[in-house]
Amino acid sequence: MSVPHPIPFDSLREQLASGEITCERITDEYLTIIEQKKHLNAFRSVFTDEARERSRLIDKKIATGTSGPLAGMVIAIKDVICMESSPTTCGSKILEHFVSPYNATVIKKLADADAIIIGKTNMDEFAMGSSTENSAYGVVLNPVDETRVPGGSSGGSAVAVAANCSRTALGTDTGGSVRQPAAFCGVVGLKPTYGRVSRYGLVAFASSFDQIGPFGQSVRDIAHVLQVIAGHDRHDSTSANVPVPDYLEHLTGDVRGLRIGLPKEYFADELNEEIRNAIHGKVEILKQRGAIVKEVSLPHTEYTVATYYILTTAEASSNLARYDGARFGYRSPNAKDLTTMYVHSRSEGFGAEVKRRIMLGTYVLSAGYYDAYYRKAQQVRRLIKQDFDNAFREVDCLITPTSPTTAFKIGEKVDDPLTMYLSDIYTVSANLAGVPCISIPCGTDLQGLPIGMQVFGRQFGEETILRIADSIEKG
Ligand code: GLN
Repeated sequence: MSVPHPIPFDSLREQLASGEITCERITDEYLTIIEQKKHLNAFRSVFTDEARERSRLIDKKIATGTSGPLAGMVIAIKDVICMESSPTTCGSKILEHFVSPYNATVIKKLADADAIIIGKTNMDEFAMGSSTENSAYGVVLNPVDETRVPGGSSGGSAVAVAANCSRTALGTDTGGSVRQPAAFCGVVGLKPTYGRVSRYGLVAFASSFDQIGPFGQSVRDIAHVLQVIAGHDRHDSTSANVPVPDYLEHLTGDVRGLRIGLPKEYFADELNEEIRNAIHGKVEILKQRGAIVKEVSLPHTEYTVATYYILTTAEASSNLARYDGARFGYRSPNAKDLTTMYVHSRSEGFGAEVKRRIMLGTYVLSAGYYDAYYRKAQQVRRLIKQDFDNAFREVDCLITPTSPTTAFKIGEKVDDPLTMYLSDIYTVSANLAGVPCISIPCGTDLQGLPIGMQVFGRQFGEETILRIADSIEKG
């Protein structure tokens, strides 16, 4: 069966306009592939009937010239983003039967733009993890090598795109959960600037870090989706009232004069040679195209993982207090009174990693340890942000690896949380500093596993990193 994936979205739109293809057919083709790739466990729910019905409606709009900018775009949504009348499990048993009463802003914007939402994707419980092994609904398999993890926490969304189950997908990135699975599965993933995309209707993990971001097989697809979901939202006071540029217009391929920084701390001696060489190869191409490359320093890099895990667990312990058996989802049948209802519902409803983080977060916020851990980490976060401000005085973007390794084996790190946390070493800084960052495929290692490379930009400078990523993608 022909998959519409490799066709650029603009060409697909022309085919739709000329009647050569219909949204209904595109949707059916993706639904067929979803069925064929069911064993990957990428989806939590598939909207077969709704998607078909919507596609017929959009075909009518196309015929009358009234369709929106994403007509023909099939998209999957991480199951942490609320969709009215649909389950939103967040990969957790505690929300197994939770049905959202309203739509997240991104869902409304996608629907208004005539995108077709094909289903909700599997994920690490409450987006905590780097391998999608922490879902209450089973492990997600990497389509490149099914014995390996797809990365996490948005593993289902990355796999949906990599396995051609949907053209694009939305994930969320609190510390790398869009970029690292994109790298492991060989697709493109963007974490926008904090505040660029509304978080209204996104179930919170760590509110000062969380951002919704798109996955695609091409930078152009990412730009098309970002164009629609970006922008101020009065329902989210942390969404920024900053104009949204025309992202597609910036994909000129011209990188002449752009200053690229290579932070020396991200290319330390321990870095895997294959990953280092793959990235240097791409940087060399950018240089030949007229970019200016120089080494820079982000001196507080060694503190990023510790700072991230103190602050995000603190925020998570507070955000997850709402799952108490009374208001949302699971209530233990073993409850005898109010206290045992809280204790049993939470003990039975949450998985091990979520409990670990709630305990860590409660600890760093407790009276005796607040100053030593939480306050100190806030101060270090400021220093990390300043590192980026200083670097961006010298250069326009930074290029680094996305992950210290390619996709690891299922089960390899699951019993060793510290090793798992350390695998986030290159991604968490973008969330600590609030800057945008994209991961793009950058060849494969000797085992044929995809290598990812990151491009960091200035706050609200998505157009620059998209331009560089697009130039790299062109080969
Ligand atoms: N892997 C990181 C963590 O476990 C990032 C998660 C995320 O970005 N949601 O916290």
